[in-house]
Amino acid sequence: MKPICTLLLLLFTTLGFAQTDPRIYDIIHSVSAERIEKDVTTLANFGTRHTLSDTVSQTRGIGAARRWIKSEFEQISSNCNDCLEVFYQKDLVKKGDNARIVHDVWVVNVVAIQRGTKYPNRFIIMSGDIDSRVSDPADFTSDSPGANDNASGMAGTLEAARVLSKYQFESSIIYVGLSGEEQGLYGGKGLAAHAKEKGWDIVGILNNDMIGNITGVDGVVSNRDFRIFSEPVPPTETEQQRNARRFYGGEVDGISRQLARYVHHTTKTYMPEMNPMMIYRLDRFGRGGHHRPFNDAGFAGIRIMEAHENYTQQHQDIRVEDGIAYGDVLEHVNFGYAKKLTAVNAINLASIAWGPPAPETVEIGGIVEPNAKLKWSKVDGAVGYKIYWRDTTSPTWDNYRYVGDVTEHTLEGIVIDNFFFGVAAIGQDGHESPVVFPNKILR
Ligand SMILES: [Zn+2]
Repeated sequence: MKPICTLLLLLFTTLGFAQTDPRIYDIIHSVSAERIEKDVTTLANFGTRHTLSDTVSQTRGIGAARRWIKSEFEQISSNCNDCLEVFYQKDLVKKGDNARIVHDVWVVNVVAIQRGTKYPNRFIIMSGDIDSRVSDPADFTSDSPGANDNASGMAGTLEAARVLSKYQFESSIIYVGLSGEEQGLYGGKGLAAHAKEKGWDIVGILNNDMIGNITGVDGVVSNRDFRIFSEPVPPTETEQQRNARRFYGGEVDGISRQLARYVHHTTKTYMPEMNPMMIYRLDRFGRGGHHRPFNDAGFAGIRIMEAHENYTQQHQDIRVEDGIAYGDVLEHVNFGYAKKLTAVNAINLASIAWGPPAPETVEIGGIVEPNAKLKWSKVDGAVGYKIYWRDTTSPTWDNYRYVGDVTEHTLEGIVIDNFFFGVAAIGQDGHESPVVFPNKILR
């Protein structure tokens, strides 16, 4: 009996490693709508958090708001044996840098780093924004609660830190409140430059901007739908890379798109009640968000947000006009929904930070042959690899084969021309790296 049991156990552990990690369900359940409501309320009560607003008052303006955010991160840290490194990262922006900068201003981000045990210099980032605005982007004194835009994203980021600081991860997680968003994405620009300067290995940024409204201007009410925006290919690609895409593919397979697919996949696995929408564009039509400066710097970055916006409740002076109550006030935020999108972030941060790094190179071959062949660089800490493939018209990685701890594999009978392929590294507990689209031709 005994040897058979051992054999069976071995079989299960080698062939059937966990596809789901029960800790992920614990994380989902730990996210609290009540704490998010409390934090959104606190943020809205600073009156205005406009980037150019008062920095001296203890109760009103962006100075009071960022000091409170920093103290919250420090409080979270003191509950986990100082597991967070909390600091301000700031840059001076001069008056007239653009029309919205009407006086010199320090754009100050609040950063909290939960250092990874195995890859301390590898980072996955979750961001929300500190700042708010009303109808006139240069109006830095009027009441601007910015409850949904973007106290919701900021509160979600604080809550994710509270929940995840109870765990240890192999890679580092950064929780950050970015400032200067409404004035021209200044905070993101500053932190992306800081990351480059420090040589941070950034897996990507999950930028949360408006995660609390479920009642859309389109008449749709849904607490299940949400959007994942991602650009198709990085703006930093070379002419040579652009040219290669014509012949080998990759038009919709840049690093940000792979991160978006990762979030989609994790959500579908652990929160199947949610409806993540893969939006094939950088951001909303003609509008921007704080993932963009990271994309500009060559990092992967996506925007996570509600699916159904309400324009009478964003960037508006608080007023009633023709019977419509304008303004981004507390009453319009659905905290149960903000909790769900916070959980989406938390489980993806955890999964990426528990998972191994992705293979650096993935080679593909099989031209005029019946089989597609893939070869990849070994990842320290991976227990195996998955080869993913999909129809060329599919937005998601629909097929995969787990191939164990090898660095090459031939997919028999799968013709290279008819699918797109990628490789992910798999860690001990089944957590995966993002998929890497082939970046080399196998000859
Ligand atoms: Zn906004």
